[in-house]
Amino acid sequence: MKQNSIVESLSTPIKDKASVIVAGGGVAGIAAAIAAARNGADVLLIENQFSLGGLATLGLVTYYLPICDGRGHQIIYGLGEELLRLSVKRSHEWHYPVCWFEGGPQEEKNKRRFEAGFNPIYFSIDAEQLLLKAGARILYGTKICASRVEDGKITALIVENKTGRYAIECNCVIDTTGDADIAYYSGAETALYAEGNKLAAWHYYLCDGDRQLKMYGASDVATNEPADETPNIRFSGVDGQELSDITVISHRYLIDYVVKRQKDFPDYQPITMASIPQVRMTRRIVGKATLDMCEDEERIFVEDSIGVTGNWRRRGPVYEIPFGAICSANIKNLLAAGRDISVTDKMWNITRVIPVCALTGESAGICAAMLADCDYDTANVDITALQENIKKNGVRIHINEVL
Ligand SMILES: Cc1cc2nc3c(=O)[nH]c(=O)nc-3n(C[C@H](O)[C@H](O)[C@H](O)COP(=O)(O)OP(=O)(O)OC[C@H]3O[C@@H](n4cnc5c(N)ncnc54)[C@H](O)[C@@H]3O)c2cc1C
Repeated sequence: MKQNSIVESLSTPIKDKASVIVAGGGVAGIAAAIAAARNGADVLLIENQFSLGGLATLGLVTYYLPICDGRGHQIIYGLGEELLRLSVKRSHEWHYPVCWFEGGPQEEKNKRRFEAGFNPIYFSIDAEQLLLKAGARILYGTKICASRVEDGKITALIVENKTGRYAIECNCVIDTTGDADIAYYSGAETALYAEGNKLAAWHYYLCDGDRQLKMYGASDVATNEPADETPNIRFSGVDGQELSDITVISHRYLIDYVVKRQKDFPDYQPITMASIPQVRMTRRIVGKATLDMCEDEERIFVEDSIGVTGNWRRRGPVYEIPFGAICSANIKNLLAAGRDISVTDKMWNITRVIPVCALTGESAGICAAMLADCDYDTANVDITALQENIKKNGVRIHINEVL
């Protein structure tokens, strides 16, 4: 790349191009990039950090929640299952239901959920290898900070990295930033989580030679009960100064907690802390449809479903996710996956977790690959053809395919 003068750089030179840009390399972004590349698209995944996985790895959320319904039926297939198996390929940590991973009796499967605790380093590096093998490119250490929108379509993203500030042209974008940054920067409609985020400070510690994960702030429901441990501080997660302040507070709580533990366990030592803020629900796209089933509702048929998920909090419910929940209502060539999809606050708590991020990432990636034949407009997508393509990798579209 040629060296720019200051005046040139202010005009934001175009230095790269990709047909599909996947914006953010968390689990949703990993799945989206792999799926789009496997379906023939020219894919560039842009990630602000220098490794993949987002909250699942850098955020130390090393618990891949269930891909079954809790009653012995596997619900999520495709990349949702492939990434779960990948996460424990080299070693597994606390949860590892042998009946699901290695085959076992149905009565065991009825009792145990299909989930796993994984090592974040293995998962991050193995996902990176899988993504490269699929043919996607990765651009690390790069923050997307603006977008160019023309005729209702994103035509370039403005990025900043060691090279400086420049533009990357694209035909379509999958927003997997977790905070719907691309939708926001593009002027698309977005929505904030009404209650805000609760403070968390998960960390790994060593005690008596044992390495363990402390889920400090495990609950996402703020209470003042002693068991809840962390304070009832709520924050939006989309304000730069606020996120910085919250990070400082979580560091302070972490160290106070460690000092307290050391009184009973002098050997207690923190060995890894999250290197990105632990945020759950922040900002999402407003989609062409919004998944708004209430947690108690079960088995509702959604004609344009792009996949089914169970409920990690309760055994039994299964939901179909509408195509419109991954399509921006305003920007024609903008898809979303993971924490960014269009759901009500109540459903957000169900769809934000790792397996559903993989599921929606895969469907968004397949859709992005199809947009080349749809004038890069999600309104032109043939839903039946999309569903057929999603099914090719084993993903189930409707509840009657899993129960
Ligand atoms: C405390 C806590 C506990 C949780 N517990 C569990 C659990 O036990 N099990 C479970 O399954 N789920 C759990 N979750 C939820 C789950 O971890 C996350 O919701 C999920 O991993 C999110 O994946 P994602 O890909 O949508 O987003 P993220 O993981 O947030 O990934 C987004 C990626 O985009 C990058 N990015 C963001 N903005 C930009 C930008 N502008 N430019 C470039 N890159 C950008 C980020 O660096 C990040 O890598 C928990 C979450 C929290 C916070």
